[in-house]
Order: sequence, then C-alpha cells, then structure tokens
Amino acid sequence: MKEIFVRLDRCLGCKSCENACALEHSSGKSLMAAVSEKPASLRRLYVENVEGQKMPMICRHCKDAACVAVCRTGAMWQDPTSGVVDRNADKCVGCWICAMVCPYGVIGRQKDARLAVKCDRCSGREVSELLRKDAAARITRSYRARA
Ligand code: SF4
Ligand code: SF4
Repeated sequence: MKEIFVRLDRCLGCKSCENACALEHSSGKSLMAAVSEKPASLRRLYVENVEGQKMPMICRHCKDAACVAVCRTGAMWQDPTSGVVDRNADKCVGCWICAMVCPYGVIGRQKDARLAVKCDRCSGREVSELLRKDAAARITRSYRARA
C-alpha cells in the first residue's frame, strides 16, 4: 500500500495539501473548473492547529477500522490486499455514522450528494513523470539549502 507521511517540523499550515487533494478529486482537475463544480470537490485531509502545532490529519486506513464496522450498507470497505479503506458511492446513503466513529475525524460529508468523503489513498491514480521530477527537484533544492 502507498503510504503518506507527514513531516510535522516542516508543516507551515498553508493548507496547499488540502487544496491539491480537492483538486485531484475534482472532475475538471483544474482550479477554474473545480470552483464551479457541483457538487463541490472536497478535501480528504484536514490541517488542524493543535496548541500552536500545525497538524495535517489523514486517514490511517486502520486495521479493523471502526468506520467499516459500523457501515450497515457495506459502502465503507477495506481492500483485503492493499489495506486501503474506501467508500463505495453506489452503496453510501449518507447516514454519516462512519464520520461519527472515526477517531481521527477524517471523514467528510458531501451534503449535496449525501455521501461520506474520505481518503482513497489515490488508488488508481498515477503520479505523472513530470510531477515526480518536479518533486525530486524541490526536495533536492531544499536539502541543498539546509546543508
Ligand atoms: S476513516 Fe478513520 S476509522 Fe476509518 S480507516 Fe480512516 S482513520 Fe480509521
Ligand atoms: S455515510 Fe455511507 S459509508 Fe458512512 S456509514 Fe453511512 S452508508 Fe456507510
């Protein structure tokens, strides 16, 4: 399973990650298209401020996940191979009980469509070569600047 790690010492709380997440989950995949999309594309992570510390909260894709256990329609499920916990839109009825039991508070509510919204670990999404190179270049520059 792909993992996403947070380096708390580097988080500025700018929320760019929230915007990027919502954009990636939009149909248009561009800012201009996303702002007029209905229902609006929502973020799947939440940058909180805890006693002055910026804290991006993301789904842990828990083993024996509480959100999966309480879902009565089977919409919330865990892939037995990858361990990714995801929501099946066709089965979700928007009761949001899953959101009530998640200990990390990382399930959102798509109120217009009555759907639970959560991190899907970008399953099926490939990072483009261009983005990968750009990320590598940025990390290299950041390390050089610190050295
Ligand atoms: S949504 Fe919450 S309970 Fe469900 S897998 Fe993610 S962190 Fe665990
Ligand atoms: S909101 Fe959807 S995914 Fe969550 S418990 Fe209800 S039916 Fe299941």
